Amino acid sequence: MRDLAKLPKAHLHLHFTGSMRVATLRDLAAQYEVRLPSALTDDDPLRVPADERGWFRFQRLYDAARACVRSEADMRRLVDEAAQDDAAEGSGRLEIQVDPTSYAPFVGGITPAVEIVLDAARTASAAHGTEVAVVVAASRTRHPLDARTLARLAARYAGEGPGEVVGFGLSNDERRGDTDEFAAAFRIARRAGLASVPHGGELLGPAHVRQVVDALAPDRLGHGVRAGEDPALLGALVDGGVALEVCPASNVGLGVYPDVADVPLRALVDAGAQVALGADDPLLFGSRLGAQYRAARDAHGFTDAELADLARASVRASRASDDTRARLLADVDAWLAAPDPDA
Ligand SMILES: [Zn+2]
Repeated sequence: MRDLAKLPKAHLHLHFTGSMRVATLRDLAAQYEVRLPSALTDDDPLRVPADERGWFRFQRLYDAARACVRSEADMRRLVDEAAQDDAAEGSGRLEIQVDPTSYAPFVGGITPAVEIVLDAARTASAAHGTEVAVVVAASRTRHPLDARTLARLAARYAGEGPGEVVGFGLSNDERRGDTDEFAAAFRIARRAGLASVPHGGELLGPAHVRQVVDALAPDRLGHGVRAGEDPALLGALVDGGVALEVCPASNVGLGVYPDVADVPLRALVDAGAQVALGADDPLLFGSRLGAQYRAARDAHGFTDAELADLARASVRASRASDDTRARLLADVDAWLAAPDPDA
């Protein structure tokens, strides 16, 4: 069994606030004299009986963490540490997702908030060797016109390299908002060449995924795991080349599946889906990117060759340049070609 931390991969589903280290959260809370819910500084904040998991607990803790990020320096620190942690786990390409709205009040507006994240992403890419690009995400809990404003802003920074915006997302509780009302924002983003990467198919099932597909024309679905409940839908996603950003720890943390072994990772891959594993919110779900690959190995029996295929899928589903993709894919081949230390 080869070292999964050395397997080159792309990380396509990581939220800015949720990427925060627990130690950093403690520092910031102390600095701003914020009293954190004790669960947030536990090793596993969502370790509660399965019937007490779920979105509302998650959202409350997430909001508490977000309230500790109050300055440009804090924002830069989060991006830098996310890149450093990704680099340590073999990620050669991180597409980090941020809704600048929450941080705008502290830095003079949504434009500076985006500029800070992009600049920090460029700096972190150079410092740690993991390319950090950005997905700007609108929230389902806000007015669809806010989403359009964000899409126009994101479009101004469209690109593929470090410190550029590569995609436009839609996050927060899948059950909130009317998906169709966000279609205009996604049209703006797609016209600018941005990938459409909305969340869908985690908390809600196939009917909602169909809505997201019809209204937002995703290139990748944030999660999408529950599309597997409808083979015809999953087949359409496979045929349409829609990649799935599967985040096993998130699924378990939110009570979608009782255990990581219940996440239908094997079924999705067997159906031909292009799956990119992601950590979503390590701060709350208690594990980073590497742990998702270890779960594929330990709970789902993926061989090294199959794990290399997962890594290749993540690279192919990224918005990295052709050069970066070719380099990472060659590095995956080299990882697999090296002798298995246990053989
Ligand atoms: Zn997410």
